Amino acid sequence: MIYEGSYGTVNFFEDSYLKTHKRVWVSISGGTDSALVFEMLCREPSIEEITPYTGIETSRPKHIYFVNAIVDYFRKKYPNKVIRDVVSKTFEVSKDVRKNFFIRKIQQDAIKMGLVDVFVQGMTSNPSEQVMIENHMFAKNENRRSGWSDKDQVIHLHAGIGLYRPLLFVTKQFVAEMYQKLNLMDDLYPLTTSCTGYAEETKDWMIPCEKCFWCLERKWAFGTYDLNNWKKFDK
Ligand SMILES: [Zn+2]
Repeated sequence: MIYEGSYGTVNFFEDSYLKTHKRVWVSISGGTDSALVFEMLCREPSIEEITPYTGIETSRPKHIYFVNAIVDYFRKKYPNKVIRDVVSKTFEVSKDVRKNFFIRKIQQDAIKMGLVDVFVQGMTSNPSEQVMIENHMFAKNENRRSGWSDKDQVIHLHAGIGLYRPLLFVTKQFVAEMYQKLNLMDDLYPLTTSCTGYAEETKDWMIPCEKCFWCLERKWAFGTYDLNNWKKFDK
C-alpha cells in the first residue's frame, strides 16, 4: 500500500521480497512510530500473523502498559488478523550491555524457533539539524537517526532474515500526518507514549518529562506531549 503525504511517500510492503512473507515480527516501543507501522501491517492483506516484541528496561517498567494497550487496540480493530501475545524481555541497561543486545536476543530466539519470516521496525529519521537546534533537541544516543545515506537500506538481511524499516527516510512529521489521514488521533494516539524519562522526572510515569529528546520530537511533530499515564491502562 502506498502512503503519500506532504512530508514524503512510503511504499509500504510493496517490495516483491516482502510479499512472500506472511509471519511478521514487529518491534513495538509504546511510541507513535512503531504503532503506525503496526497499523500499516494490519492493513496489509498478504500478512497473516503479527507478533509484537519489545524490550523493557527495569528502570522504566511502566512502558509495558502502553505496549499492551496498543496491542489490545489492534486486536479489537482487526479481529480477523492473527495478533500474537507480546514477546517481551525485561533487562537492565549498563555501560556494557545496551538495549540492542536484548532486542537481538529476542530476534535470534524467533529465528531459532522458525517463527518469523521478516522483522519490521518503525525507526524514523531525525528532524533536520536546524529544527533540532531550534527546539533544543539534543539526541545524545540518537545520532544514528541522522543522515541516512543510500547505503542504508529499508530492507536488509539480519542473520539471514529480512529487517524491514519502512519509515527510515521520513521524519515524525510524516508519522503525524498519517495519524491525521488514517483517523488515528482520537483512539490510537492517546495510547502511545514517547517520553523516555525516569521515575523522578515523570512522577512515576504519571506525566511526560517535557525535556527528553522524544518528548520534544513529539511536541514538534504532533503539537502535544504524551496524553496518558500508565494507570489508565492498569487493569
Ligand atoms: Zn520525556
